[in-house]
Amino acid sequence: MQSFEALGLSGQIVAAIRKLGFEQPTPVQSKAIPVLLEGNQDVVALAQTGTGKTAAFGLPLIELIDESDRTTQALVLAPTRELCMQITTDFENFTRAVKPLNIVPVYGGASIAEQIRRIKKGAQIIVATPGRLMDLLERRVINLERIEFVVLDEADEMLNMGFKDDIDTILSQTSDEKNVWLFSATMPREVRQIASTYMNNPMELTVGEKNQGNQNIEHQYMVVDEKDRYAALKRIVDYNLDIFGVIFCRTKVDTQRVAEHLMKDGYNADALHGDLTQQQRDKVMKSFKSKALQILVATDVAARGIDVSNITHVIHMNLPDEIEFYTHRSGRTARAGKTGISIAIITRKEVSKIRQIEKVIQTKFIKKEVPTGAEVCEKRVLNIVHRLREVPLANREIDHFLPSVYDELKDLSKEEVIKRFTALEFNHFLDYYRDAPDLNRSEKSDRSDRDRGESYRGAGGDRLFINLGKMDGLDAGKLLGLICDRAKVSREIIGRIDLKGAYSFFEVEKDFTNSIRDAIHGFEYKGRMVRIEITNEGQGDSNRGGGRDRGRGDRKRGGGGWEKKKRW
Ligand code: AMP
Repeated sequence: MQSFEALGLSGQIVAAIRKLGFEQPTPVQSKAIPVLLEGNQDVVALAQTGTGKTAAFGLPLIELIDESDRTTQALVLAPTRELCMQITTDFENFTRAVKPLNIVPVYGGASIAEQIRRIKKGAQIIVATPGRLMDLLERRVINLERIEFVVLDEADEMLNMGFKDDIDTILSQTSDEKNVWLFSATMPREVRQIASTYMNNPMELTVGEKNQGNQNIEHQYMVVDEKDRYAALKRIVDYNLDIFGVIFCRTKVDTQRVAEHLMKDGYNADALHGDLTQQQRDKVMKSFKSKALQILVATDVAARGIDVSNITHVIHMNLPDEIEFYTHRSGRTARAGKTGISIAIITRKEVSKIRQIEKVIQTKFIKKEVPTGAEVCEKRVLNIVHRLREVPLANREIDHFLPSVYDELKDLSKEEVIKRFTALEFNHFLDYYRDAPDLNRSEKSDRSDRDRGESYRGAGGDRLFINLGKMDGLDAGKLLGLICDRAKVSREIIGRIDLKGAYSFFEVEKDFTNSIRDAIHGFEYKGRMVRIEITNEGQGDSNRGGGRDRGRGDRKRGGGGWEKKKRW
């Protein structure tokens, strides 16, 4: 392994980073630093977050900036406010006691007047989000013509977030002589396009295999039913006693809901998403970074680029729509050479997505079982026993109280004391997990539950009547599509479908019954009012004869009597 000195960095800067605990360069630093220090080459570096990429571009940049020149010489673009702040702090740590540089972060959600004031004092390096930089360019506060270095950090993320036009505008205002250093965790077509349009014969640097993710992450998945995702999450958290983790959800609403459920269930959790004010987000991040908060529930966008050390687990409540997001999510753990675990909670239908992700990140996932209630309890009991053994007894004050404790317990045997102590710590877990079902589902099924005629009803589902059937030109697939599109629910929460002539029955997970009924009941489909009823009392369709009549009747009546008439 090379030393930092051998990469060409000055003694001063090496001493500064040693104080930060940087003993050896990381692979991306070994590759990038000597090339970037030359200061005359465009570079595209494929590097995951957490691999030390900020120092890989930051250290050479700091060496190359002329401290006696107060003009803006370097621009670093990053996708989020959090990342801008992080880069600025890192740069300040690198430069402290090396050379006095004026580094100014600019991002939305903070006072633009204050940012303008700081820029006017002579910002040698500006670290910006594209949106806020555009604002400042329009106000003619910044002139990019004399910029010598442009760093695009997490370029793929910036493009994912819709900053393509802003980046185009910004880069087109810089001089042809500048160098562009582009860092990206993935290399989709759009990133290549930026490279080919704005970069001059860039040198490509890759660490490890192309597209290969962080090797220190163990990727796991667990297969459950849709309705059991939250229960599975709780088991994972209960089983991993020292978890310090980020849980990703796909939407802000889900994020808030999962966080609220966890809090209500007594976990040390909070939400991070775009509907919170910047102040609220800062507060949550601060307490997560200080480890006062144990579980952060976040959306992809909100948690982008966050660098919190020692995250043990990343849990995916759902897989993201974009495979690249998976890389960004799981990159929150296993940072700076540490190891970490990424667990995807999936349904059987998502197994194929896991296979796709495996291909892209070139790493195999390990199928794990959701711990059973008994396993969770056993793990926690053993933990208590372990803590009991390890508890420090050096505190002399305790001796003072012991005689009365012995006296209080004198009629109990040792076994009874142990039993009672365990129960005291433990009863609520035992209560919760008593009779807890196995949440695991087999991943292998080429026929759906619906085809096999499995019923949700025994497992807490409802059977619904709908006055649409074959006579409306529907088959089971079309009806399923209609229900799911209209009610915006996943296909997996629908059970068996019984398609009849003028009406049908379908089964649905109980939690979704009302939302499906509210979304569909009263809509008009091909000129007919749609009606939904809960009909749990009978499975046989023969006793729905009334339904059939009513169904036809509706057709004739044209839906008279329904309060609302909405178009499908
Ligand atoms: P980054 O990929 O730049 O977000 O860095 C991830 C983490 O690794 C940060 O907390 C850095 O402070 C840390 N780090 C970067 N380079 C090194 C190094 N050479 N040795 C130890 N830690 C490092």
